Amino acid sequence: MKTLAEILLKNGREKSVLLHHPWIFASSISEINGTVTSGDVIRVVSGDGKTLGLATYSEKSQIQGRMLTWDPDEQVNNDFYKNRIINSINKRDLIRTSECNAYRLVYGESDGLPGLIVDQYDETIVFQLLTAGMDKERDLICKVIAEIFPGGYIFERSDADVRVLEGLSNRVGAISGTKIPEDIWIHENGVFYKVDIASGQKTGFYLDQRENRNKLLRYCEGKRVLNCFSYTGGFTLNALKGGSDSVVSIDSSQHALNILMLNIERNQIDPTKTQSICGDVFVELRKFRDRAEKFDVIVLDPPKFAPTISQVERAARGYKDINLLAIKLLKPGGVLFTFSCSGGISRELFQKIVTGAAMDAECNLQIIDQLSQAGDHPILLSFPESMYLKGLICIK
Ligand code: SAH
Repeated sequence: MKTLAEILLKNGREKSVLLHHPWIFASSISEINGTVTSGDVIRVVSGDGKTLGLATYSEKSQIQGRMLTWDPDEQVNNDFYKNRIINSINKRDLIRTSECNAYRLVYGESDGLPGLIVDQYDETIVFQLLTAGMDKERDLICKVIAEIFPGGYIFERSDADVRVLEGLSNRVGAISGTKIPEDIWIHENGVFYKVDIASGQKTGFYLDQRENRNKLLRYCEGKRVLNCFSYTGGFTLNALKGGSDSVVSIDSSQHALNILMLNIERNQIDPTKTQSICGDVFVELRKFRDRAEKFDVIVLDPPKFAPTISQVERAARGYKDINLLAIKLLKPGGVLFTFSCSGGISRELFQKIVTGAAMDAECNLQIIDQLSQAGDHPILLSFPESMYLKGLICIK
């Protein structure tokens, strides 16, 4: 058997690995012994010479090692990946209900598979390879998924921005199944959604907001609702299902808004109750303010303003701006659903930002619920970065 190359950590830098944090930063590595190419499995060794486990190596990334196992004798082969994927899928049994046929089956590091995302949309499986290590195992991953879902349609969406940091180019296309269905419809809590796996965002749908979309329902009876960053209308459709009088949806993607209209039709919702605006939320909220318009319920679900710590300050200003505008647009007693999915913004900081916005709006906002990501995006306790979606339901 081939001897694996070694990452030797600087003295004292083994602590986070011992606490089962899966990332090894370039700044923690003192040297690499042996020949290694990006994506290879390597042994991780502490400054005092103890083997801590096995990781994949990413030459270009700041995160140069991603722990696969803390057992240095474990074999990283077909069975390793197959067992991890099956284990991850089996755990979803606790989350699955008959109310939904779309789930995240594998959520990267949280499921012990750094850089692998597998989403299920009914009979279609979409996977993403986000790291050099996973990309190297592509053939094996495809084979394993095909074995687990015989006859299923398998599609690759390896085109996330983070691949650039790994020195990887994009790859999108069908893997198996004679024909990828043109029209993929899923259902979630009594609502139907069209999912565009080939050119929609992420793998086509924001599965992480499943429970939060459902929570909106009860606040909407007879209300005027504004859904900012609507994408294909997840919150919009739930607001309408909850009996809202009218919903305005804003998104910068016309493609997403076109799908929103198909979703309205498919769910047999009166189209006169909805209005879509293709535009920039930062601009459109100011237009509503200038026209002195008011809403009963407002949803703010922006994209990641701060994917990493370095963009936090700018991102904080962005969150404050939209939250301030939204709070001002709310009627007294109105409800705000506000989110941040930025890895660089902690829950505490997000709450501080919303507090600052409420202060500037001269409002005593109350939090009535705190929200997170759906359970098929599990939070690994030793990996706090996996808790990325923060949400608050507030009353004005
Ligand atoms: N709430 C949605 C997911 C929102 S994702 C759901 O439940 O499905 C964020 C959305 O914000 C994307 O659709 C993206 O097109 C849109 N977006 C990004 N920047 C924007 C901006 N400045 N103004 C309006 N929309 C924006």
